[in-house]
Formats: sequence, structure tokens, C-alpha cells
Amino acid sequence: MAEMPAGHEGQGFFATTLDSVIGLARKNSIWPLPFATSCCGIEFMATMGATYDLARFGSERVGFSPRQCDLLMVMGTIAKKMGPVVKQVYLQMAEPRWVIAVGACASSGGIFDTYSVLQGIDQVVPVDVYVPGCPPRPEAILDGVMRIQDLIGKESLRRRNSEQYKALLESYGIQ
Ligand code: SF4
Repeated sequence: MAEMPAGHEGQGFFATTLDSVIGLARKNSIWPLPFATSCCGIEFMATMGATYDLARFGSERVGFSPRQCDLLMVMGTIAKKMGPVVKQVYLQMAEPRWVIAVGACASSGGIFDTYSVLQGIDQVVPVDVYVPGCPPRPEAILDGVMRIQDLIGKESLRRRNSEQYKALLESYGIQ
């Protein structure tokens, strides 16, 4: 059951802000795009299974079309050659969009401190939440999704039009 946003209530009415209502709807209907390249992806499969059941958070509808998803979940080692592909997928997602780096490899390159591995996907796309672990257990992935839910629920509708957000995207070469 979703928590009711803060507001004013009386007999027969409840008033709150538009930001809160839209945040409530968005945070409980996240459509993830699993970008899984290696072992962390297996933990995500467990997270989707009956025991952990990501559907409890309204996120059972995973999609493989970026245009129909709003949460990019990058799970696994990302080679430098794959970096532009991650960015392309991110660019094809409509705003508002969020990103989770799941596991040490996606967050920092993990144990692969080598010439060929991207040392964190935040070198190519802005990341909202990092999930630690090698691999993170399904509980940790669920925790990452809950952190994203917190961010989404509290996000102002104006954030995506703000100068700070535009500057963030420009720092990644995104207009
Ligand atoms: S963080 Fe560990 S488990 Fe996850 S993809 Fe990298 S090596 Fe595999």
C-alpha cells in the first residue's frame, strides 16, 4: 500500500500538491530497462523472481525498448566499447528518466582496473543511485530501487527544466 502524501484533509476532501500526486504515481510505476552484461544480471533475475518479487514495488514491467522505460538499470561490467551503447540507450529514453548503477563493475569498474573496462558508468551518463556489492544481493537491488523511489517521489516537476539539470546533461555532452 502506497503512503499518502502530506496534505490537508477534512470531511470529504483531501488537498495536496501536484508535485506530490505525480511523484506518488511515478514512484509506484517505474518501468525498468535491465541493461545486464554479466553476473550482476543474474542477481537481477533473482530479484524479479517470486521470493524477492520486484512487482511489489510496481516495477514488474521490465522493458527492452528504451522509449517505454524510465529507469535504466546497468548491471555488470561495461567495456569502454560498450560505453557509447549505454549512452545511446539513455538518450533514447524519454524524460523523466533515472539511472541505477548496480554492483561494483557498473559503479566503478569493480575488480577490472584494466585498459578495456569503463571505470564507472557515470563517465558516460548521470547516475542517480549506486548499489554496492560484487554481486549485490537481491535485497541490495531492492534497496536501490527503494532509494530511487524516494528520489522520484520527492522530485520537483520543475527539476528537468532547471538550469542545474541542463548543466548536468551538458557536462555529459547531452543537449
Ligand atoms: S560487480 Fe561482481 S558480480 Fe557484478 S558484474 Fe562485476 S564482477 Fe560480476
